[in-house]
Amino acid sequence: MVDPEFAWLDGQLVPWGDATVHVSSLGFGFGLSVFEGIRAYWDDRGSSLLVFRLADHVRRLYQSAKIYRLEVPYSRGELEAAVLKVLEANSFEEDIYLRIYAYPGSPWGAERSENVCVFGVPRPSNLGTAHPNGLRCNTSSWRRIPDDVIPPRAKMAGNYLQYALAENESHAGGYQEPIMLTTDGKVSEPPGANIFLVHGDELITSTVTSSVLEGITRSTIMTLARDNLGSLIVRQRPIDRTELYLADEIFICGTGHAEVTPVSSVDGIAVGNASVGPVTTELRTLYSDLVHGRQKRYSDWVTSVPAPVS
Ligand code: PMP
Repeated sequence: MVDPEFAWLDGQLVPWGDATVHVSSLGFGFGLSVFEGIRAYWDDRGSSLLVFRLADHVRRLYQSAKIYRLEVPYSRGELEAAVLKVLEANSFEEDIYLRIYAYPGSPWGAERSENVCVFGVPRPSNLGTAHPNGLRCNTSSWRRIPDDVIPPRAKMAGNYLQYALAENESHAGGYQEPIMLTTDGKVSEPPGANIFLVHGDELITSTVTSSVLEGITRSTIMTLARDNLGSLIVRQRPIDRTELYLADEIFICGTGHAEVTPVSSVDGIAVGNASVGPVTTELRTLYSDLVHGRQKRYSDWVTSVPAPVS
């Protein structure tokens, strides 16, 4: 990968190599850093980047910061503008994955101050191409952190340590993705994504109190299903582990690696007939159309950054 030219650090564009953090800072040392992962899709006509639900991602960053009493020293509008500035300054012409981090970056002993950085890197969309036959998942023996231990509702760098354990266990067992349960044994979420089951005429996802991050893709999928798949009843409710074994379809969703990715088996038990189901296929197509700006109905969710004039 060719490095991007610029990142945004504390209010200005800086060369990529200068976007650094002090090794003695709390942000680095304790993973005390709230963040967001955002996608910008290169549109079909090759004329602009389309940032998906930018305002909602920035809003969630502030919610995460509020939980941890971190001061983000910029307004939401300023951070939205910073994201657009990073895209423009780098003249990207492909799918981009962006991160915003807010963290106490001051060196040990210095007066505490919060820093913010924004960067984007090329990351092709996997929609419809990754795992065409679905993921082989396991239910993890590692339980998802509960709200009264480390709240998953905050998108916090330290939360992601848990995934190293769960993913190592999953991969060592020959699976591709772990599904984590809550401490009381209900289905929570896989790493960096939320989960949906189709059972009969119901589309079911874990509740927001099931130790999940309230995914923006999750909310998008529920809207798409309600607006476009009228025969489907959308439910948020606690899900038992064995419901995974009896579902007709399962998919995971999230901004980063998942987007919308089907699951073909859980703990070696086939989901439905182990092929990608019709509801998953339809929702994935609707989602792809939406993020690529082909669904005028949801145009408020898409911010266009015109390609540089060459
Ligand atoms: N859960 C966790 C723990 C995540 O990190 C993510 C990715 N941000 C998600 C769910 C999905 O959230 P979103 O759809 O907003 O990317």
